[in-house]
Amino acid sequence: MDDYKQLLDTARNAWNSRKTRPIAWRKHQLEQFLKLLDENEEILVQALFQDLHKPKQEAITFEVEFTRNVIRGCLAQVDQWPQDEHVAKNLLTIMDTTFIRRDPYGVVLIMGAWNYPIQLSLVPVAGALVAGNCIFVKPSELAPHSAQVMTALFNQYMDRECCRAIMGGIPETTELLKHRFDYIFFTGSSRVGRVVGEAANKYLTPCTMELGGKCPAWIDKGINMDIAIKRIVWSKMANMGQTCVAPDYLLCSEEVRDLILSKIPVYYKQFFGSDAKASPDLCRIINDTHVQRLKRLKDKTKGTVVFGGHIDVEERFMDLTIITEISKDDAVMEEEIFGPILPIVTVNSVQEAAQWINEKPKPLSLYIFSDHTENQDYLIDNTSSGSVCLNDAIVQLSVETLPFGGVGDSGYGSYHGKYTFETFSHRKSVLKRDMGIIGETLGVARYPPYSDKKINT
Ligand code: NAD
Repeated sequence: MDDYKQLLDTARNAWNSRKTRPIAWRKHQLEQFLKLLDENEEILVQALFQDLHKPKQEAITFEVEFTRNVIRGCLAQVDQWPQDEHVAKNLLTIMDTTFIRRDPYGVVLIMGAWNYPIQLSLVPVAGALVAGNCIFVKPSELAPHSAQVMTALFNQYMDRECCRAIMGGIPETTELLKHRFDYIFFTGSSRVGRVVGEAANKYLTPCTMELGGKCPAWIDKGINMDIAIKRIVWSKMANMGQTCVAPDYLLCSEEVRDLILSKIPVYYKQFFGSDAKASPDLCRIINDTHVQRLKRLKDKTKGTVVFGGHIDVEERFMDLTIITEISKDDAVMEEEIFGPILPIVTVNSVQEAAQWINEKPKPLSLYIFSDHTENQDYLIDNTSSGSVCLNDAIVQLSVETLPFGGVGDSGYGSYHGKYTFETFSHRKSVLKRDMGIIGETLGVARYPPYSDKKINT
């Protein structure tokens, strides 16, 4: 285990020396960060393949290029975002100056998850750099190759006093969390989010919790079912279903369910061939524990497996598995699936769909495939979720002008685009009072002796 106290003391001293404050430092770190990705793309893609069998296209699109674009965006804005924001004044403060200064928090901790190991660990880093923080980043130990490569490269390219990557699992995280940080950004499960939140609370450390949950998808009558099913199969099978915003279960009428069931085999075969296990375009389940967990979920379901169902434990592979005849207490409805199992719940109306959703913890995302404005509005207005995406899935998180985050059990706080910078900056209010005669006259009523006349002015 690293000597966390020593590393933190070094970072704390660097922070106190104000080393991270100049925009030039932030810019240089972002340039180094970009260089890290530019010069090591192949190594990173290879590590992702070793951990998750991640196809090159997914590795580049969802991880390396995604992160690179974020850094480019941060570089383009690093002169602007940290500027003071002047805000409106009222009559009494007309002579004063009012602004919000974006203050970096100090020494921040970022913990990533294993499913998109590069994106989830490094995208928050970019925003934390623009904000001018010292950064500790801990990638997930469950994607060991990616964690190792990222840690080594991060410590090689970045300012060693202010930016440190740390390897480690539960014991290391537990130890790390005993120390004081000025902000904690955690991506992972709701269960561990609670553990991290408790540790943070000891120091009243503010947090962002990017957690998981079950993302429902309502499929309406009358939509272009071919397009809808292509989007659902793609978003469910990207990363072998191990995506926090993958559709977890579908809600639809019986009539729509039958249509869905007729289309899924067509597009599954079109995407991955007649033997999906042989497709180079499918990831693998991260480890044996998760294979066994998914197998248990499939075996325990009271529903009917109507498509797929095949699991190869050795290969850590599972076919897209569709389950129907789902009841509310079914095993697949009790926890986040995080794999290629897709239950289809039949309901009689959009109102009943909302009831199903509202009986579960608040999801990270809600998907609505519908052409009916009333149904779209009904679901948006009568459910609570971190985000909503209409007529597609997953892609909402690529829109950098939309904040990405959960609500309730799926987390709190948000990031992406400018929101990442905002997350890692304290909004310090500054009021600079005027000392001139006009300003003084405007405020004179506050001074004693008090009177009813003064109350009414
Ligand atoms: P996890 O919560 O099991 O583990 C996260 C990290 O916490 C681990 O790497 C480990 O080092 C540490 N940890 C685990 N148990 C701990 C304990 N008892 N004490 C201290 N530290 C501990 O999550 P995971 O398996 O890495 O990721 C999967 C979860 O993350 C899913 O629920 C998924 O939905 C969620 N997720 C959310 C987002 C998002 O952006 N909202 C993105 C990806 C994944």
